[in-house]
Amino acid sequence: MSGTTLKDAKLFINGEYVDALSGETFDTINPATNEKLASVANASEQDVQKTAEVAQKTFESGVWSKMSVDDRAKILCKMSDLVMERVEELAMVETLDVGKPIKESLGFDIPRAAQNLRFFAEMAKYVNHEHYDKGNYMSYAKYAPAGVTSLIIPWNLPFMQMTWKASAALAAGNTVIVKPASYTPLSAVMLGEIANEAGLPPGVLNIITGPGSTVGTAMTTHPNVRRISFVGETTTGKTIMKNAASQLIPVSLELGGKSANIVFEDADLDEAVSGSIEAIFRNQGEICLAGSRLLVQESVYEAFLDKFTAAVQKIKVGDPLDPATDMGALVSASHLATVDEYVQIGLAEGAKLAAGGKRVAGMDKGNFYEPTVFYEVDNSMRIAQEEIFGPVLVVIPFKTEEDAIRIANDSIYGLAGVVWTNDLRRAHRVAAQVDAGLLWINCWYVRDLRTPFGGSKASGIGREGGRHSFEFYTEAKTITMKC
Ligand code: NAD
Repeated sequence: MSGTTLKDAKLFINGEYVDALSGETFDTINPATNEKLASVANASEQDVQKTAEVAQKTFESGVWSKMSVDDRAKILCKMSDLVMERVEELAMVETLDVGKPIKESLGFDIPRAAQNLRFFAEMAKYVNHEHYDKGNYMSYAKYAPAGVTSLIIPWNLPFMQMTWKASAALAAGNTVIVKPASYTPLSAVMLGEIANEAGLPPGVLNIITGPGSTVGTAMTTHPNVRRISFVGETTTGKTIMKNAASQLIPVSLELGGKSANIVFEDADLDEAVSGSIEAIFRNQGEICLAGSRLLVQESVYEAFLDKFTAAVQKIKVGDPLDPATDMGALVSASHLATVDEYVQIGLAEGAKLAAGGKRVAGMDKGNFYEPTVFYEVDNSMRIAQEEIFGPVLVVIPFKTEEDAIRIANDSIYGLAGVVWTNDLRRAHRVAAQVDAGLLWINCWYVRDLRTPFGGSKASGIGREGGRHSFEFYTEAKTITMKC
């Protein structure tokens, strides 16, 4: 892995791996052992300045922005193939850096990243073609690439999130600057090698590692930047939106969540148990879409909770590299401390533990936390209102459909929701009334890349996916001609 060994991750600028201008580095840590994994280039505002100039020059040169959409697609599809050729290596790096189970990296994250690249490359050929005739006049719209695009990514699903954004931005003809989170930079940096091997022109994709407070700020305030797409915490999103306002540029924000997972008495309870386990404990609960508030109808509450807690006991927390592991390590020791603090808050608020509530015994070297379930929870408690972003579930009973909808919507967030029921009318009625950008009925986390993705309220602004991505990453121009 030249340039991107586990010991040494550099910046990828203008098609080359380089040190930060200051020569500084920081360490990335293996969450399963809390030992150093690699040294990573620690960029500063000066590195962003240099990169923004490279990205602007490359954009203006037309080497990518004016390349035909078919030729761009060939290169991005080649990148997709190369990701799959290196799926095992990428999955291992992702698992070591994030702490997530290898079966998820290998079976989902990296293949989905390859799919992102191929999907947006192909879709670019078919979207945004508009042509209208009106009497003697003919109008058509051109969707030109917007220019230099800043993409800022969190630590929970690094390679998948990065390619979700970058594939669409690149397919639309933009030049891109990506910043992965400092906890998990390693897989993202490897995309540079793949881009070079696929023939992506230098300067089109640039990858910068460094602190959000300086590098992220520079990426969102530089005058060359024409689009910002951000995934991360709601508070960071607000700062980024202010920066975007000062430059008057469009911003896409995918932020936090506290999604309601609603189980009605007429649901297939076994299916609802296994789906709800997945919805909160996948990726150690470090998923924005997690169904972290489980609302259960009173008539089946006891029975459901018994089945659910029995299933929680079977979750295998362990070495992320072991293919049998269901739940790995939390991303950092400080994040584990935050999760544990929330558990103490829940206990002080009067909630009761049905499962978990502490570190996994005998695994103190890494950040392993038990899958945790609180009951006797009121939706007004902090553990029900605030995003914990870890393996902590709150279970809340409800009486009627109206109650369920009211509790689901009693949240500052509006990212996702899940409805478990066998009543077709109820399924659609409830899905329509839960205030969130994504609703699943009798399933969770099934994604079709053509559909809009994003949240309402404090969960974000804007939608990406399918044509929504292409609308965001392009600038529309209407041309009208008298014939
Ligand atoms: P974070 O906001 O702390 O960091 C995200 C990224 O922003 C990192 O790369 C960070 O370095 C950078 N950053 C930090 N401060 C910045 C600033 N002032 N300017 C520019 N960039 C800055 O979030 P995190 O802890 O990495 O990720 C967890 C959060 O992400 C959770 O709230 C989760 O819900 C959210 N998330 C949302 C989605 C979604 O699709 N809605 C998906 C995944 C994660």
